[in-house]
Amino acid sequence: MKTIDIVVPCYNEQEVIAAFYAETSKHVTAITDYSFRYIFVNDGSRDNTLLLLKGLAADHDDVRYVSFSRNFGKEAAMFAGLKNSTADYIIVMDADLQHPPALFPELIAGIEEGHDCCAAYRTTRTGERKIRSLFSQSFYKLNNKLTNTKMPYGAVDYRIMSRQMVDSLVALPEKERFSKGLFCWVGFDTKWIPYENVERTLGTTKWKFSGLVKYALDAIISFSVFPLRLLSILGASISVIALLYGLFLFIKTIMFGKDIPGYASTIIILLFLGGIIELSLGIIGEYLARIFTEVKQRPIYIEKESNLDKDKNNEKSN
Ligand code: UDP
Ligand code: MG
Repeated sequence: MKTIDIVVPCYNEQEVIAAFYAETSKHVTAITDYSFRYIFVNDGSRDNTLLLLKGLAADHDDVRYVSFSRNFGKEAAMFAGLKNSTADYIIVMDADLQHPPALFPELIAGIEEGHDCCAAYRTTRTGERKIRSLFSQSFYKLNNKLTNTKMPYGAVDYRIMSRQMVDSLVALPEKERFSKGLFCWVGFDTKWIPYENVERTLGTTKWKFSGLVKYALDAIISFSVFPLRLLSILGASISVIALLYGLFLFIKTIMFGKDIPGYASTIIILLFLGGIIELSLGIIGEYLARIFTEVKQRPIYIEKESNLDKDKNNEKSN
């Protein structure tokens, strides 16, 4: 029988853990030709998430958990789940039931058709604030233009992947991880499945606006050098304009004589160039910061405890 691991990152999800397991299990038990296992990753929750996960693991044989020493972020949590997975197929999904487990049969069918991956994207954004949808949409447009990682608008981290694809993902050593980009980067063949957005009914979203801005920046900067190239283009264009303007002033002076020195134009040019220089430094700084975090070679997450050795003990006793 083929095996499937379900990786679930959890951060302060005490309201949803029980409901998630109950709801997902309904769908899992309906699929009889695969054997399922859950890998919950407690991403340094400050509430009772870990306690609930331990309870779940005590009651159910198919529950594993990994718990971090602090909050490392959803990307790190997903990575930990993938790294500790051993199954033939791996499903990644959120804990808040916004990723409907009813899609399992469709996802599995997709991968059984021979695709390496079958991923969901939402066609609606009900229950999301307009401003967030707007930013999100512009992000996808910008990202698809600037980087080679093309993803459909509405792509979410809900997918099933083959062992081979997960092994390639886990082998990528980078520390600042933007999974949606990495999923595309490793290649392989992905089938996209649409679904209607489900509102979060339990718990609250863990994203703050600043977090989303960082997420978007990470996405573009990790996968594109275009912002750096833009600087060169900008710099060159400004030089050409300055040269032409200089020529214009020279001719004007020769033809009409000396002008009264223009305070306004001087200030404008100064400010404009100052701004461009600041911007350039900022962009270089963003890349430098990425290099800085990568060279430190710190681990992506630190595990404090887990019950994954359960499987090793089982293997020994078999
Ligand atoms: N999450 C996490 N670590 C974090 C933030 C979020 O593991 O630092 C998990 C969270 O528990 C949930 C998933 O990532 O299972 C998606 O989070 P959320 O529902 O808050 O995001 P949204 O659906 O609003 O994009
Ligand atoms: Mg959510």
